[in-house]
Amino acid sequence: MDVSIVGAGPVGLTIANLLALRGHSVEVFEKQQEAYNLPRAIHFDGEAMRVFQSTGLADDVLKGTLVGKGMLFKDASDNVLIDWSRGQEIGPMGWHESYRFHQPSVEETLANGLKQFGNVTLRRGVEVTGVSQDERSVTLTLADGSQKTSKYVVAADGTNSTLRHLLGIETEDLGFDERWVVVDALLKKPRPDLGDYSVQFCDPISPATYVRGLDNRRRWEMRWAGGKGEADRPSKDELWGMLARWITPEDADLERDAVYQFRSAIAEKWKSGRVFLAGDAAHSMPPFMGQGMCAGIRDAANLSWKLSAVLSGAKNDLLDSYANERAVNVRQFIDMTMRLGRLINQTGAGKAPSGQMKSIWPSLGEGIGMRDEIAGHLVAQPTFDGVLTDTASKHGFYVLADQDFDAEIPVYTTGKEWLREKGVFAVLVRPDGYALAHAGNLIDAKKMVRDWQELAACVPKVTYPI
Ligand SMILES: Cc1cc2nc3c(=O)[nH]c(=O)nc-3n(C[C@H](O)[C@H](O)[C@H](O)COP(=O)(O)OP(=O)(O)OC[C@H]3O[C@@H](n4cnc5c(N)ncnc54)[C@H](O)[C@@H]3O)c2cc1C
Repeated sequence: MDVSIVGAGPVGLTIANLLALRGHSVEVFEKQQEAYNLPRAIHFDGEAMRVFQSTGLADDVLKGTLVGKGMLFKDASDNVLIDWSRGQEIGPMGWHESYRFHQPSVEETLANGLKQFGNVTLRRGVEVTGVSQDERSVTLTLADGSQKTSKYVVAADGTNSTLRHLLGIETEDLGFDERWVVVDALLKKPRPDLGDYSVQFCDPISPATYVRGLDNRRRWEMRWAGGKGEADRPSKDELWGMLARWITPEDADLERDAVYQFRSAIAEKWKSGRVFLAGDAAHSMPPFMGQGMCAGIRDAANLSWKLSAVLSGAKNDLLDSYANERAVNVRQFIDMTMRLGRLINQTGAGKAPSGQMKSIWPSLGEGIGMRDEIAGHLVAQPTFDGVLTDTASKHGFYVLADQDFDAEIPVYTTGKEWLREKGVFAVLVRPDGYALAHAGNLIDAKKMVRDWQELAACVPKVTYPI
């Protein structure tokens, strides 16, 4: 077995698809029989959609989405403090900037995607209880005492990660710790007044979030002073009491609710020998920006092409770049989320900053390639001959250039507006969409390709099953 994955949440399932598409054998162990069905992610961004594109499942994922309008921050008197509107056109990623979705449906799509492959097994109802490794392989112990050995293991086993505990990896507490109740309601009659924007009700006494879901599903997240932990739940009457400012039982049925302790934390190590942490196992943040899963999907994109390259002959130390590249990037989302959390929690009327907010696209941390205002950042994804460039390249390395030239890596003469805006002649794009290097002229562009063509040749091209 090439890779064992612990956890069939969105992150484990995405990694499994991306590895299987590149021809590697994968086994996924998931302790639950059924997918998790309590309210969790409801938004993902254009970068996550770009990763779903690379799984070949974009059409199925899109079927269960709605383009997001954005988010408003309002004070207790309903004044708009901050307007974080999202474009309604296709954006630089080749997709819309923001989507609303239903997490269990996307997980089902990703799990169904795995059925296309002969080289993947998804084993539900199988808990991993132990891990050991040597220089060549990792052995997982399962709850029935049996063992499974593979070349690498990905721990995508969520915020209370078993593998992280077994490996003795500590987490750094980044300082957010609050209990919130989360409710999904199904409207029984139209309530257009609730609106299509997400709303953060900034209020030190009862901060809350409203999100328009798909069809008639609407989400409320409300800070909850009651109970002692995630196991304590408000009664139905208490829930209706909390929701009374928006809806009554005449308007909607309550579909599902959960209590979460929202925390922000990051694992101190993301790699231990041949085991890698990804997704919530490596980081957690409150959902105020809708970025927890998106961050995990970025981990999936980063780690899967590197694992694939190393399994196909690249030097093992490529894998050392994963942790720092991703940790630096995700810290910026956690930091921003916590700042928004403070605004939502602490702002009384008239005390908040006001204005327009824009999405952030932070750089990767130091890793492979250069780092500057272009290298280490996401590159726009244009089309070439009507096909999105990631797909045209079969999800390998490629070059966007102002002018065509002979090279061992595909060169697409498109995205010229982006190149001009950045002031470069060519950019070398990694399989996860980030810039590896750039060049100011044709000679430097040819050298850039020569410098990286050996690594590029190690990443197997993606072939979609028919
Ligand atoms: C209320 C709320 C709202 C959110 N909103 C958003 C949002 O809008 N946008 C966004 O991007 N993110 C959001 N998130 C975060 C998002 O839901 C998570 O980041 C995401 O689910 C993490 O995915 P994962 O695959 O890393 O982990 P999980 O989805 O937690 O999956 C881990 C899996 O591992 C399994 N597992 C654990 N231990 C073992 C073991 N020992 N053996 C076998 N299997 C094991 C578990 O059963 C589980 O299925 C939200 C979260 C919450 C709570």
